[in-house]
Amino acid sequence: MPQLVDVPNMARWIQREGVGPIIRDMIGYLESDFRRWESFDKTPRVASHTPFGVIELMPTADSETYSFKYVNGHPFNPARGYQTVTAYGMLASVDNGYPTFFSEMTLLTALRTAATSAMVAKHLARPDSSRMTLIGAGSQSEFQSLAIREVLGIEDLSVYDVDPAAVEKLRRNLEPLGFRITAAVSVDEAVEGADIITTCTADKAQNTVLLDRHVRPGVHLNAVGGDCPGKTELDERILDRSSIFVEFPPQTRIEGEIQNKPEDYPVTEFWKVLTGDETGRKSDEEITLFDSVGFAIADFSALRFVRDATAGTDLQSEIDLVADPEDPKDLFSLVGVNSPVH
Ligand code: NAD
Repeated sequence: MPQLVDVPNMARWIQREGVGPIIRDMIGYLESDFRRWESFDKTPRVASHTPFGVIELMPTADSETYSFKYVNGHPFNPARGYQTVTAYGMLASVDNGYPTFFSEMTLLTALRTAATSAMVAKHLARPDSSRMTLIGAGSQSEFQSLAIREVLGIEDLSVYDVDPAAVEKLRRNLEPLGFRITAAVSVDEAVEGADIITTCTADKAQNTVLLDRHVRPGVHLNAVGGDCPGKTELDERILDRSSIFVEFPPQTRIEGEIQNKPEDYPVTEFWKVLTGDETGRKSDEEITLFDSVGFAIADFSALRFVRDATAGTDLQSEIDLVADPEDPKDLFSLVGVNSPVH
């Protein structure tokens, strides 16, 4: 029977292990899957857009395992008491098509998005980076901060959000964990001295959360919030000054910061940096930009990791979601007069 990790058990697992160690180990899974990028079935995610937000299905598969994630993005949700992003997902056997593992993926998406940011920053940011700026202090923000600390040791964080209460929430959550937080009153103040800038805002608009003047040479940019058609965060001139790294170009050209650029706008597929087919950062002055939109292979890695890490523990429970009659041709036996339910 398929196994399930639900929200309470995901939360217990994260509390037990700690966000930092989980992210460190998840990066191992991500890197091994990104290195074998070409062995996966890949397609841009299937998105259903409405004026309220977007609902997306994100499938991928290797020769043994299929996975998909259901995820929404509704920027106006927090004002109504709902989260902007929620998700769940599953793994299935390619061999017989049966689901094998289900998981909540709202917390897991925050972990995997942060782990992906950290994996990329580990390879692209200047190794002497010591200061991070965060624009947007919502649900993803603590996870992003903890992930960057895990790989680069950064504890100096300058944060700006249009909602000061969100910054105070982040301060409450992260200062006890050893971060030194500056609550900036403007983006100009927030980016002073930044080596890494993460934009993680939610709005259904072509925004310029960062202007050209906010990005000095040598910065690594982690643009997380621009992930849908008509939803971007950066002044386009920043793109022209940056070396841009992406997950899966056919999806990023639809959804990422590069969505308004020509089809042949130059980008580097990040997995090629891991395999050595492409160079990452070339100089201390270069601006590197991770145009993150979130791709299905990262969810595959995250699901695989949580399945393996919680296997054989009370964090997993059985979920009876596959009708499986003794005689495979007798589905009716489950509802007929001799059904075990009668
Ligand atoms: P959230 O709604 O919890 O937080 C977003 C924060 O951004 C809010 O605190 C809001 O006040 C702030 N904000 C909005 N506009 C701003 C502006 N112009 N300047 C400064 N702050 C601003 O959302 P979340 O769950 O933290 O997600 C953040 C973004 O990341 C969303 O756009 C989401 O779609 C995206 N996301 C991307 C990936 C990925 O893989 N790239 C994964 C998950 C989420």
